[in-house]
Amino acid sequence: MSAKTSNAEFFERACRVLPGGVSSPVRAYRAVGGTPRIIARGEGAEVIDAEGRRYLDFVGSWGPLIGGHAPEEVVEAVCQAARRGSSFGAPCLAEVELAERVVEFYPGIEQVRFVSSGTEATMSAIRLARGATGRDLIVKFSGCYHGHADHLLVAAGSGLVTFGEPASAGVPRAFAELTRVLPLDDLQAVQELFEKEGQSIAAVILEPVPANNGLLVPAPGYLEGLRELTSRHGALLIFDEVITGFRVAPGGVAQRSGVTPDLVTFGKVIGGGLPVGAFAGPRRLMRHLAPDGPVYQAGTLSGNPLAMSAGLAALDLMAASNGWRQLEETGRQLDARLGPALAEAPFPITLVRLGSIFWLALGAESAPRSAEAIPERAADLFRPLFTGLLERGIMIAPSAYEVGFLSLAHRDEHFERLASATAEIFAAWPGTQPG
Ligand SMILES: *Cc1c(COP(=O)(O)O)cnc(C)c1O
Repeated sequence: MSAKTSNAEFFERACRVLPGGVSSPVRAYRAVGGTPRIIARGEGAEVIDAEGRRYLDFVGSWGPLIGGHAPEEVVEAVCQAARRGSSFGAPCLAEVELAERVVEFYPGIEQVRFVSSGTEATMSAIRLARGATGRDLIVKFSGCYHGHADHLLVAAGSGLVTFGEPASAGVPRAFAELTRVLPLDDLQAVQELFEKEGQSIAAVILEPVPANNGLLVPAPGYLEGLRELTSRHGALLIFDEVITGFRVAPGGVAQRSGVTPDLVTFGKVIGGGLPVGAFAGPRRLMRHLAPDGPVYQAGTLSGNPLAMSAGLAALDLMAASNGWRQLEETGRQLDARLGPALAEAPFPITLVRLGSIFWLALGAESAPRSAEAIPERAADLFRPLFTGLLERGIMIAPSAYEVGFLSLAHRDEHFERLASATAEIFAAWPGTQPG
């Protein structure tokens, strides 16, 4: 690598050989403009770009890096595992150990199937739910993201039709029609759908605290209501805890809320920064999976020893350092520093936070509970804030709808920097008078 190569030059090269210059679309900065930084390395709470510039990082690789960048314990575990061989295509020690940890941490589950991404986890959990119930319909909510599998890349239909519309080109309408899409924060809508089609509904899937379209903390009683409705109609409740699992508590939102799903999906934190996903449930459901049962699912690199070792090391680091309690405290420090700066903003902002996940609801007087409740001007308000922070060496995810992540490496001094940068940006806000 030449020391003089700039982010822009690298990105130009990237665009020649990668569609949009990226391997995942949100990285392309289309919502905010400008050139994505090409990241050379990460250290603790910081990333360093191709030009050698350091940024305080609140992206955290979009969720996995609960221990910060390159924590010694995880690096060491991965190096040791690599020396023992990177893949066997046979059961390995680390996958059993990680599965045992997952079963110990998460309420109501007895068995785990490992995959290599969150998308695979939700896709396979849906197949299992259909296979176990013998039903075809899936219910999801607008404002939840479950990866890019065909049946889940579905948006709410318009008008009176309850079946979904493909949310991407290439998703057959016939697939989308098996997915019902409802608004969040509306138990009545779920109840009405169950009254009409309850016999055919295999599962209701949701992020129990949606964190892919803002951070939409549900009203008290909402998850309990879904639990009750699904049980009554013989449908499964699937919690997609790909973001929240092992982050908001060892047992995820299930532990925090006391509501136990039938199946749960994991990703992000469970891989310690390597590609891992998983889905899990009680034996009575997991026994439907091949080779025990007729629901087929497989993966060449599933349960990969490197990835399993990274996940184990990350979870052990969290457990050994009382990481969940530390992150609660770290989150309160963020509130205390950022709160006063946000109060000076030339428009309303609500800081929404659950443990180490936070979101700035721009233009909102209170925390939105559904996608529809997010102010439309949020995206416009976001751009100058994002750019201003980036110019000041602070990196947040490049969209108004993405959350920020705290890690064990974040400290009060980082929030002080974030707060003073934010205050500066608001003081010079486009269209406002100084003073
Ligand atoms: C990230 C995410 C996924 C998809 O995981 P990938 O590893 O990106 O495929 C699924 N569900 C939720 C809730 C996620 O946040």
